[in-house]
Amino acid sequence: MWPHEPDELEAGHMAPDDADHSDAWYFVFAKGQMVTKSVQGVPEPITGDDFRWFEMEVHHKHFLGHYLNRPCFALSASGRPAEGYHTVGLRGLLGRTPQSLFYLAGRAQQIIDWHDTHRFCGRCGARMEDHRHDRAKECPSCGLINYPRLSPSIIVLVTKGEEMLLARNANWPTGMYSTLAGFVEPGESVEQTLHREVLEEVGVRVKNLEYFGSQSWPFPNSLMLGFHAEYDGGEIVCQAEEIADAQWFAPDNLPQIPPKTAISGWLIQEFIDRYSAQSR
Ligand SMILES: [Zn+2]
Repeated sequence: MWPHEPDELEAGHMAPDDADHSDAWYFVFAKGQMVTKSVQGVPEPITGDDFRWFEMEVHHKHFLGHYLNRPCFALSASGRPAEGYHTVGLRGLLGRTPQSLFYLAGRAQQIIDWHDTHRFCGRCGARMEDHRHDRAKECPSCGLINYPRLSPSIIVLVTKGEEMLLARNANWPTGMYSTLAGFVEPGESVEQTLHREVLEEVGVRVKNLEYFGSQSWPFPNSLMLGFHAEYDGGEIVCQAEEIADAQWFAPDNLPQIPPKTAISGWLIQEFIDRYSAQSR
C-alpha cells in the first residue's frame, strides 16, 4: 500500500508557552520560497538561533505542532536570509528530504497561503479573526468561518491485462507520461469523479475500482486519492487541449514516468510489481 507511515508530526495550532525556544524549527517562506540550510547535503528548516541573524521581516507566524518533539512554526516573511542559507520552492524539496518533512513544509506553505488569501470575509468584507479553538478564521461581523482550503482529486491507473493507460498532459514537457487525474466537483462521490474524468480525458469506461491510498500534494492544495481501475470499453480519444497523447503501455516498454515519491509513479510501480508476482 501507499506508504501510510505514522506521521512524525504531533499537529497543533496553539503554541504552548515554551514553544519558542532556540531549537524550534521555522519554515520561513518569502515569495513562495522556503529558507533552508544544508545539513550534510540535506535541506532542513532553520532554527530560532539561525533566524536571529537574518534581516527578515516576519508578517505572520503560525504554530504547526511538534515534529519529532521539536516545536515547528510557519513564518511568512520578506527580505533575504543571511549568507550560507538557501531558498527553495517546495518542488525543490521533493525527494531531497524525508517524506514527512516534505509534507510538513507543504502544510506550512498551505497555511501561509490560506492566511494571506482569507484576510477579509468573503460575505461581508470585514477583517477576519483567528478562531478561538480551531485552525480557522471567523468573521466577527457576520460569523462566517473559513477553514484551510483542500481540493480533493482522484488519480487513477487504468489497466487492461498487463497494459497500463498512461497519458501526457498537454502542458507537460515532452516525454513524460502519467496516470489520469482530476478534481472532485461539488455533489460528486470520488467514484463518480473517477468515471467522469477517465471518460472526459481519454474516452474509455472503467470498472472494478480499487482504492490504494492518498497523498497530500501541496501544488497548491490537492489531496490526491489514488486508485487502480480496469478497462471496461471504448476507444482512446484524447480530450482536446488537455491530453496531448494517451496510449496503452506494457511494463517492459514504459515511457518516462513520474518518480515513486509521487503517488502516480507509485501506482504504476505497484501495478507492475503485482502483475509480475501474479504471472510468475
Ligand atoms: Zn462577514
